[in-house]
Amino acid sequence: MGAISIRNVVKRYGKGPKANQVIHGVNAEIDDGEFIVIVGPSGCGKSTLLRMVAGLEEISDGQIAIAGRVVNDVEPSDRDIAMVFQNYALYPHMSVFENMAYGLKIAKVPAAEIEARVAKAAGILQLEPYLKRKPRELSGGQRQRVAMGRAIVRQPEVFLFDEPLSNLDAKLRAQTRLEIQKLHAELGVTSLFVTHDQVEAMTLAQRMIVMNAGRMEQIGTPAEVYAVPATTFVAGFIGSPPMNLIRGVADGSRFTVDGAQLPLPAAAPRSGELIVGLRPEHSSLKPAGALGWPFKVETTEMLGAERLIHGLVGTQAFTVRVDATLPAPRNGDTLTLQGAAEQLHWFDAASQQRIG
Ligand code: ADP
Repeated sequence: MGAISIRNVVKRYGKGPKANQVIHGVNAEIDDGEFIVIVGPSGCGKSTLLRMVAGLEEISDGQIAIAGRVVNDVEPSDRDIAMVFQNYALYPHMSVFENMAYGLKIAKVPAAEIEARVAKAAGILQLEPYLKRKPRELSGGQRQRVAMGRAIVRQPEVFLFDEPLSNLDAKLRAQTRLEIQKLHAELGVTSLFVTHDQVEAMTLAQRMIVMNAGRMEQIGTPAEVYAVPATTFVAGFIGSPPMNLIRGVADGSRFTVDGAQLPLPAAAPRSGELIVGLRPEHSSLKPAGALGWPFKVETTEMLGAERLIHGLVGTQAFTVRVDATLPAPRNGDTLTLQGAAEQLHWFDAASQQRIG
């Protein structure tokens, strides 16, 4: 049973007063068989967290347990995990079969058992035609499948993926993403998957952990994280384009933005300095003079089925997504921006935390 418990986990590089703390007390309970994506911008501590689960980095404080066993002092090779890296790390002089079999050979698994496990993994990953080839005779996508095959044959309790798709082009990334989903449906192995790409996180995760500057901002299903972001950081990170965030001062049904009083479709949850969020896809534009917020068009982007209209509310940037069949406004036009009361997200301007 490959459940993972991450309890108050802290990571410091270096010792004493000069120590650099990069993970500030992360807590997460991951169920057996779950597919969890850890997502956040570069440098937020995703890989460090994953490497602590793997045993490649020491845990400075707190506890990590895999399948009910605390692993803080357990060697990586004894943690019953298998890791897939960005750079595949295949042995160039070995064939595909030998690459997949190598770890099992070292572990003294009987030859017949190795044959069977590699054959099964090769079947799942559609690598049967390539078993005799060397890595250099494979495409990037095929190499990544061999790296996954090497993890599968170990039959671990937990798969750890560290940005495994980063070296693939966009089309192959999308395809490999689907393969990883199928693989997880078939094998049901608990998986932790690190990426900086929020689209990848949204499409792969059963639940996602959104990280920022060494802290966990939110854990939830993609739908929850999209619909109810816990902080302005999550609101501004998830979604493409992300949620618009406008800072102002609320007073009942009025919101003052950059000196201008703007009407609200319903009263703000409280008075004071707040940030209101509204997604591009939940915003609409009406002619000037309608009830709403003045919106000055700066540029538009045609994306095929839809159009992004970038503009300003007061001095603050705001993007609206509209159907491309609607006529495009002219740059410099002032229109009226509207959003339904139930689509507004409110955050405290000081703490950046969601209100309500
Ligand atoms: P991510 O995977 O989210 O890009 P990392 O986990 O690699 O981020 O890094 C988190 C932070 O820890 C970064 O600020 C990075 O500079 C720092 N860091 C990573 N490895 C080391 C190390 N060996 N020594 C000191 N600092 C490190």
